Amino acid sequence: MSTKMKEGKKWNVPCSHMAERSINPIRNLVDSMHITPNPDKDMIALSIGDPTIFGNLPYCETAENAVIEAIKGRKSNGYTASVGYESARTAIAEYSSTPTSEVSAKDVILCSGCSSSLDLCISCLANPGQNILIPLPGFSIYKTLAESLGIEVRHYKLLPERSWEVDLDHIEELIDDNTACIIVNNPSNPCGSVYDKQHLQDILEICQHNKLPVIADEIYEHFVFSGAKYYPLASLTDSVPILSCSGLTKRFLVPGWRMGWVIVHDRNDILKDIKRGLVKLSQRILGPNTLVQAAIPTILKQTPSDFFTETLVHMKNNADTFYSRLSAINGLTPVMPHGAMYMMVGIDIKKFPDFPTDIEFVETLVKEQSVFCLPASCFQYPNFFRIVLTVPETKVDEACNRIQEFCKKYYAAGNSMNGHA
Ligand SMILES: *Cc1c(COP(=O)(O)O)cnc(C)c1O
Repeated sequence: MSTKMKEGKKWNVPCSHMAERSINPIRNLVDSMHITPNPDKDMIALSIGDPTIFGNLPYCETAENAVIEAIKGRKSNGYTASVGYESARTAIAEYSSTPTSEVSAKDVILCSGCSSSLDLCISCLANPGQNILIPLPGFSIYKTLAESLGIEVRHYKLLPERSWEVDLDHIEELIDDNTACIIVNNPSNPCGSVYDKQHLQDILEICQHNKLPVIADEIYEHFVFSGAKYYPLASLTDSVPILSCSGLTKRFLVPGWRMGWVIVHDRNDILKDIKRGLVKLSQRILGPNTLVQAAIPTILKQTPSDFFTETLVHMKNNADTFYSRLSAINGLTPVMPHGAMYMMVGIDIKKFPDFPTDIEFVETLVKEQSVFCLPASCFQYPNFFRIVLTVPETKVDEACNRIQEFCKKYYAAGNSMNGHA
């Protein structure tokens, strides 16, 4: 009888609004681009922010052995607390504590990569209809996560002429009663910028004045070139509450291991409800991979400092080469990074009349020279492109030669409206 009653009903299985609104701008843009390399030249991909793809930056044996031990120990295969093993959380607390910002295991929540940490923090701090402040240019996942939840993002400007420092006045302008938090990414993807103490203190002062909690995306913590110094944001304040997001992904060169964490820095009990909320959210997926969790104490305590130094020397050498080579090319303005794995390069697009935007510039560069850089339109920041510093050194010169040849061909000295030949 009931089957008869439902005969007229048609199948209709729409996708949820949340899923529809989960848009990755990099995928969207790159998928819509015409990327056909020149068959006569091997492809050099300077676009992918994954340090493992070239195979030239092996992860540390300490980490490898720690995971093998965890498997052989046969004790890390069950469910754990959704916030993670106590041993892992204790090790992360020790690794992340500073004399002015001490934390303990209870302040740490393990997540499936730093993106999952960011997801937890954004979901916990803001309701649909509220807004959060994010950097421009900045990592695209902040927008993806927030907008899928119906949270508005407001971009605060970074200033390339000031090594990508934050436009502090612009932050003040964007804040209103509906602003739930600000995301600060230091060191930065895509900029490679590393903020000094004074600048971080200036940002904190705005947060203190406006009572704005911070999500500090510190996935590139300690990932700074010689000469620069990294300050954990939480070490510079005893009044502004901070959720610091990090993980093994970048510094330990194991993005696929999907291990990240949130550290709650809250010396004045302002985030009591948020802490409770984060634990509740962690229970939605019952915690990250236990084998990697079990390996964390060894990885964090025993990875030799040479491992980090070697990675950073590689990045710095590549940054130096790219910077000096690209600076010498008419129409390009690289901004020297001081950390992380990226460099932003400005295109004086009016001097390349064949290309309306960075997207066409990059498309033709691939087509003719088989060099693929990420157009910064992916970061809502047109007329720049981002290159990765993880490439093997031998490919850097070749990439620069090809970019130089390409720019020389299309650069039109006298053609721009405000151009001086
Ligand atoms: C790579 C990256 C992440 C995400 O890291 P996962 O641990 O792979 O999720 C987060 N923030 C920034 C700025 C990144 O570059």
